[in-house]
Amino acid sequence: MSSSTNAYEMAQAQFDKVADQLGLDQQVRDYLRYPMREFHVRIPVRMDDGTIRVFQGYRVQHNDVRGPNKGGLRFAANETADTVRALAMWMTWKTAVADIPLGGGKGGIVVDPSTLSDGEKERLVRGFVKAIWKNIGPRQDVPAPDVGTTPQMMGWMMDEYSSIVGTYTPGVITGKPLGGGGSEGRTEATGFGVVFTIREAMKHLGIDPSTTTASIQGFGNVGQYVAIGFQKFLGGKILCVSCWDRNDKKSYTFTNEAGVDPHFLKSITDQYGTIDKDKARGAGYLIEEGDAWLSKDVDVLIPAALEGQITGETVKKISQKVRILAEAANGPTTPDADAVLSERGTFVIPDFLCNAGGVTVSYMEGVQNDQNFYWSKEEVQERLDQKMTSAFNSVLQMALSKGVYTRDAAYMVAIDKVVRAMKLRGWISA
Ligand code: NAD
Repeated sequence: MSSSTNAYEMAQAQFDKVADQLGLDQQVRDYLRYPMREFHVRIPVRMDDGTIRVFQGYRVQHNDVRGPNKGGLRFAANETADTVRALAMWMTWKTAVADIPLGGGKGGIVVDPSTLSDGEKERLVRGFVKAIWKNIGPRQDVPAPDVGTTPQMMGWMMDEYSSIVGTYTPGVITGKPLGGGGSEGRTEATGFGVVFTIREAMKHLGIDPSTTTASIQGFGNVGQYVAIGFQKFLGGKILCVSCWDRNDKKSYTFTNEAGVDPHFLKSITDQYGTIDKDKARGAGYLIEEGDAWLSKDVDVLIPAALEGQITGETVKKISQKVRILAEAANGPTTPDADAVLSERGTFVIPDFLCNAGGVTVSYMEGVQNDQNFYWSKEEVQERLDQKMTSAFNSVLQMALSKGVYTRDAAYMVAIDKVVRAMKLRGWISA
């Protein structure tokens, strides 16, 4: 069993395991173990002090047999080509499991966004579009926000692309701001989608959601709306949330035995997901340094920060009380931790199912852009709920009928759709 926390090796190990179970042909493996295409670009940016700084950027297109490549763009100081490859690969499985007609792509720029001014961020994303515009587009590859990037940046990228091609092209990017081609409900989509899959898992396990507690790692876009949605839709209690403090360079867990108030915490969190410790302490929150979120006695554990957090070592800290692991983040669990969770009988909602709500509403945004006709928040949320519920149930049925671990079942559902499309298009022999 792989103990690597290299995201690309993890993604390949997960794929290989299921490819073996399915007895996949070598020709199929040769396509799907690797990205179809990748672009590595250097981006010169004029900084506010007049100097030029050159940034490293990546865009990886894993597979577009079911439709245009689709996936976020990250700003992260520790971004690597391998992380982006893994994330692109998981996007192919995510769009397939969610049953939306798109492929898998991902982008990354090596930078800590909190070190840039707004003007520098704008010049950096515009520079990225100048470098890759020929390789993206509504029918080729459609980026979106992810860790470290915002709707405003997507608006700038759409503007740059439209200027270069000479045609207003909102469908080139999703996650744009409202009023700038964005969709209602996109900001909440990933977090609320996570909550809809948790609700379905509880139905299956016979758990009353209103009696449950949860612990969340990460309080950025995803963590915030998971916390809000867990209370709003399930009536459950969030015992604690954690974040990375960009000033101290340490992680902290914020606990309230009576349940955290996500709206209050959101109001004291900066745009990079760092919660103000003094204000939280003043409101009576217990603050612990490190990964205390992982060992709390809760029913649902929700990693919503980074990949590689639950490893063969850290999995031992998870309380026996935990019934559901809802992977809101991409790639939070390593293959050797999977072996422990599977043995223990923890119900794992795998990442590319659990967090598919973001790309699902991104797809709806693209559809609205194409039609130039926009839907209400209620319509978007109702469609999101239907898509997430149906995706969850297709994975659950596969897991039950084949008697396999839920992550393997999600891979089986996804690989089946991708392979079928490859056969139909004649990429592989039927
Ligand atoms: P974000 O940048 O908005 O927030 C990340 C949060 O994680 C911040 O609160 C940060 O402080 C925290 N964090 C970072 N390192 C940590 C650590 N070591 N311990 C505790 N907290 C830590 O990012 P996001 O958009 O919320 O994305 C979170 C995860 O969800 C990522 O894995 C991302 O790829 C995935 N995801 C995001 C979307 C989306 O629509 N934004 C969609 C699907 C999946």
